[in-house]
Parts: sequence; C-alpha cells; structure tokens
Amino acid sequence: MDFKQTYSFDDVLLSPQYSEIKSRTQVDISSKLDAKLELNLPVISSPMDTVTESCMASMMASHGGLGIVHRYNTIPEQVALVRETNGMAAAAIGVTGDFEHRALALSDAGADILCVDVAHGHHTLMKDALKRLRELFGSEIHIMAGNVATLQAFEDLSEWGADSIRVGIGGGSICSTRMVSGHGIPTFQSILECSRTTYDTKIIADGGIKTTGDMVKALAAGADFVMVGSMLAGTKETPGETFFGKENKKYKVYRGMASSAAQKSWRGKSSTPEGVSTTIPYRGSAKAILEDIAGGIRSGLSYSGARSLEELRGRASFIRQTSASQLESNTHILWRNK
Ligand code: IMP
Repeated sequence: MDFKQTYSFDDVLLSPQYSEIKSRTQVDISSKLDAKLELNLPVISSPMDTVTESCMASMMASHGGLGIVHRYNTIPEQVALVRETNGMAAAAIGVTGDFEHRALALSDAGADILCVDVAHGHHTLMKDALKRLRELFGSEIHIMAGNVATLQAFEDLSEWGADSIRVGIGGGSICSTRMVSGHGIPTFQSILECSRTTYDTKIIADGGIKTTGDMVKALAAGADFVMVGSMLAGTKETPGETFFGKENKKYKVYRGMASSAAQKSWRGKSSTPEGVSTTIPYRGSAKAILEDIAGGIRSGLSYSGARSLEELRGRASFIRQTSASQLESNTHILWRNK
C-alpha cells in the first residue's frame, strides 16, 4: 500500500524572508468572503454552544472578525441571538429536520451568512441542502459549508453551491473523531490540498489551531480565514456561566458539539460521542486575545516580507521541522527548569 506523507502545523515552519515592512501597521490582514463581504481580521469563531452567541459574535465583529451563532437551540432563540448581533451576522444551520425553516427565519432576521454545519460535509445530505438553499436564496446570501478534508470534497461542495468551506476533519482540540472512527487528515495538509482548487470558493482552516503561529501557517498555505474554538474558550464573551473550581479559581466549560454532554443538552440523549467536554480557567474578555491575534498575524506577514495575505501566500516558503526543532520552537526554558 502506498502511504501518503502528510504534514501537521507542528511539522512545518515558515522561512523568514527579506522584508521592507517598517511597521506592522503597514500590513493589511483583511480578507474577502465574497464580492460584498470582507473581514478586516481573517478570524472566525466556531459555531459551538460554548463559543459563539451574540456576545462573542459582536466582540468578533468589533475587532474585524466574524462569529457564527451556533444552531443548538430553538429557531426563535437563534433568531433572537442573530438580532442582537451588531453588524455583519452569521448563523449555523444543519442539513435535515427544520433546517429550511431555520434558514428562512435567520435570513428574515438579517443574517448575511448561513453556515451549513455538519461533521462530514462530503455527503449527499449536504448536496441536497446546498441545492435547496440556492433555490430559496439565489445568490443573495453567503453560504458557508463544511467540514471537509479533501480536494475532491472541496470541489464538490463548491459545485453544489458553497461560497466558503470549512476545511479540517478530526483536528479540533475537543474532537475524538479520529480515535472513534479512524478517519481524518491533519488540518494543515487538508489546506495545502484544497488550496490547489481552481474554484474561487474561500478556504476556512478549522480545527487544531493553537497559536497565532498556526494561523499564519494556515493563511500562508492557502487558507483565506481561520476558525477557532479553543483559542477563545473560557472568555467572558462565550456562552455559559463561570463557576468556582480547583484552588477556588473561576472556570468555564468548553465542549465539542458531538460530546456526550453537548448531545444530552441539545437532544436529550447521547450516542457514540465524537468529542469531549472540559473546563477552561476563566480568561476575562476576549478583547486582549483578539488584539494579540491581530498582532501575531501582522508579525507573521512582516517576517515573510508580505504586505497582504495574498502576498503572504505568494512568498511563503515552508521548511520541515525535525522533532529537535519542534522542541527548540517552544519556549523551552519553561520546561527545562521544571
Ligand atoms: P479548536 O479550535 O481546535 O478547539 O476546534 C474547533 C473546531 O472543532 C470547530 O470549529 C469544529 O469544526 C470542531 N468541532 C466542534 N465540536 C466538535 C466535536 O464534538 N467533535 C469534533 N469536532 C468538533
């Protein structure tokens, strides 16, 4: 059998390039979703019930990014959350059950973007849903879809009508899909493959992004946007209460939408979980995190001598890291002195 060599974020580094950028403010990190919609920060918060409701969506918008309001609620609840969101509004839907009513109600409530949100997007139900959404809305609404992991899937969803696609299966920090099903592709590898597409569909790198360095690698490999859950988890703007835990410190819950806990809350029972639930030390407002994210991405462009994300993609030069280099790439004084 012929095994293909694949790469994860930690397998690679970007080689620094000659730069004429004198200040990070000379760098433009905006990215277009389509001819009408553009983000000043190429970062999207995940449609998860411990990440994005109106509060996080508004915080993302105020920093130039985007939040996708999750779909694990009733239609009136989700409509109210979309109405509360300032600026551009985006909301998730499924591919069965009430998805058509939900899509129409969300569009009436002012959603500019609908995100067809399923674990395995390269699926006949996705094909039917995308065709139906195009019949209902024509081109008046932006349709995001996913998740997929291969170029074939990316091009099929593009053909079926998606404007942007979430790329990444099995890489999420709370995801157990690869352990449960044996399937998945490293998110970085999927981005590399999908970036070979001839379609103009936008690529959203989703799952396993831990640092702004991973974000820069994803954007350099061909992603137009990155989607994050864990990097925003535990902040004030995420849904859910804070509670006192270990050492009397404050915590919040972060959970996969296919975890047993999440399934029990949204459909009353759980079967074959493909995610986990955990607690995150409370981190205060997401504002400082988003500022650091913008600064990190700008810094990344400056090291590649790129003034825009398009230039970054054109100039990017990746090298393979050894395991010794992976250790060196971390703040190794912290573990050396433990
Ligand atoms: P993170 O940024 O690494 O925490 O990954 C967040 C991403 O994980 C989301 O945007 C989803 O694509 C994915 N995800 C959310 N819930 C689950 C789950 O229960 N199982 C598998 N993947 C999940």
